[in-house]
Amino acid sequence: MKKAKCPFCGSDVNVGVQPRMGELVRCSECEAELEIVWLNPIELDSPLDSVEDDGYEYEDEDEDEDEYDYEDEDYDYEEDY
Ligand SMILES: [Zn+2]
Repeated sequence: MKKAKCPFCGSDVNVGVQPRMGELVRCSECEAELEIVWLNPIELDSPLDSVEDDGYEYEDEDEDEDEYDYEDEDYDYEEDY
């Protein structure tokens, strides 16, 4: 088993026999969820940042779609008229 340091509490975290980039592990000491961001040497980072980014992007996309649908409807209506 290989180990890496938890960026939060500094204790050793078990990353398994064959750690892979992007794999999620949990620190047994502070129970933080960590993503393997580098393999040589093994580095761990919190995956929370990227999750937050995704959420924001998704919200943005949703808004755009709604706006587009509305405009489309409006356009059809005018054409009919
Ligand atoms: Zn920890």
